Amino acid sequence: LDGVTGVQTCALPIFLSVQDIAVRYGKTDVLANISFDVAEGDYIGIAGPNGSGKTTLMKAILGLLPLQAGTIVHAAGMATGIGGHIGYLPQKAFSTDRHFPAEVREIVAMGRLAGKRGLRLLNRADREAVDTILEKLNLSDLRNRRIGNLSGGQQQRVLLARALVGNPTALLLDEPTSALDPK
Ligand code: ADP
Repeated sequence: LDGVTGVQTCALPIFLSVQDIAVRYGKTDVLANISFDVAEGDYIGIAGPNGSGKTTLMKAILGLLPLQAGTIVHAAGMATGIGGHIGYLPQKAFSTDRHFPAEVREIVAMGRLAGKRGLRLLNRADREAVDTILEKLNLSDLRNRRIGNLSGGQQQRVLLARALVGNPTALLLDEPTSALDPK
């Protein structure tokens, strides 16, 4: 995380504790000696140059990348794994293929499936949650459109809806406003 500045306000209790972690791709160290705590209610921004490791840090927190060193500890009671409780908005648009066969409502519904075990079926509450979040983010008119046919900003709003629809206890947003209009 060369050149990255972190801004952090802290009030107990701790929600997430990152202790001295290291992450590498192949032989390249991307993160080393990274430690910080996140308290409930914290809102943290990480700013830094392209390629400095911000996305890598988020993926490490989500458990998507192995740690070379250190630990990431999350609040008690989250035994099913932190991934199911964090809403994640990836930086990259979902698909650049116009014909990718998924509609907006299906993409958003994936955010409800993430926390389910066993047979992953949508129930009525899931469908209502999808409808509610589509409406909130002004996406109702696009609900049956293919994701690949939408603009970058529209796709980003769909992914934001997917991150929010599962009522996550935390949100990880990777450059969330890059393609969005100011409003
Ligand atoms: P940021 O989000 O700050 O722009 P990233 O975390 O995406 O930075 O990337 C950090 C570094 O790791 C960059 O040098 C990038 O090229 C490298 N990197 C990212 N993903 C991979 C990968 N899957 N394999 C190898 N190197 C990667």
